[in-house]
Amino acid sequence: MELILEVKDLNVSFETYAGEVQAVRGISFQLREGETLAIVGESGSGKSVSVQSILKLIPSPPSKLKSGEIVYKGQDLTRLSDKAMEAIRGKEISMIFQDPMSSLNPTMKVGKQIIEGIRKHEGLSTKEARKRAAEMLRLVGIPDYETNMDRYPHQFSGGMRQRVMIAIALACNSKILLADEPTTALDVTMQAQILQLMNDLKDKLKTAIVLITHDLGVVAQMADRIAVMYAGKIVETGTAEDIFYRPKHPYTWGLLESVPSYEKRSGKRLAAIPGSPPDLFAPPPGCAFAARCKYCMHICKTAEPVLAAVDGAHQAACWLLDPRAPQVAPPVIKSHRKQEGGGEHV
Ligand code: SF4
Repeated sequence: MELILEVKDLNVSFETYAGEVQAVRGISFQLREGETLAIVGESGSGKSVSVQSILKLIPSPPSKLKSGEIVYKGQDLTRLSDKAMEAIRGKEISMIFQDPMSSLNPTMKVGKQIIEGIRKHEGLSTKEARKRAAEMLRLVGIPDYETNMDRYPHQFSGGMRQRVMIAIALACNSKILLADEPTTALDVTMQAQILQLMNDLKDKLKTAIVLITHDLGVVAQMADRIAVMYAGKIVETGTAEDIFYRPKHPYTWGLLESVPSYEKRSGKRLAAIPGSPPDLFAPPPGCAFAARCKYCMHICKTAEPVLAAVDGAHQAACWLLDPRAPQVAPPVIKSHRKQEGGGEHV
């Protein structure tokens, strides 16, 4: 698959009265045509800032892109003017947000909101754009779409509004869809439908997806590759199989252990990661996870581990991977990822 997006050593900070918050600290990742990359981590880990920086959606100030490159089709998006970025947003790279009600214009009929983007980027007549908009609403499963085009967002359910957002995002055949917690505001049934829809559209339109979520159940359903973020850095990355079946970082172990499952109904408390993430005004000198890690060694507090190869493209940033570290048996974790041909891996 062709490489379409490459983020290199991205650093993004926020200037505040209290000082500089180092929200994203040197992350790098690649995205290939038609694949889904899931970025997972707790709130405040920097995943949304990383992805919104791709489209320059965070106002500057207070945000500041300190360094790094975001290469799309050979051009570094960090160097593009606001005007040049307008041609990329919604046409080449689109975004869907967690809450469609605050992303859609409540005063504009949904059909018009889709038509607006099509007319701007594709130069079609109003009649042709309306036809395309109706086709997109049909594609995302809006019933009675010809009539529903002329309704307002408040006349739709939450799931239907999210479908409209997806229709707007993909109406101009975007190559990349950035999805920031797209199903968090939805009930479980609607969540399953929206994820299935995104998977179907990815196969049909060959769109690559960057999916931000803290829900490993969603990741299990969607991801080809996963990047685990903690305190503004990627601490482990690999294929979905690497992360679900052969995780190497204690933070990833903690995330996987804290997923509820039917087998955990024995009256035991659900596992949780103790403590809270470090202060990003002044990140610790060693491993950012050290204060919460039960495997923490002396070196973890003084020297920062870097991403090191585990196997193939699987990488993790942990001193336990050093050959001189004590051998630690990883916890037994039940994976929620379905194996090829159905069934679950235990
Ligand atoms: Fe834990 Fe040390 Fe690994 Fe950090 S580097 S995750 S503190 S073992």
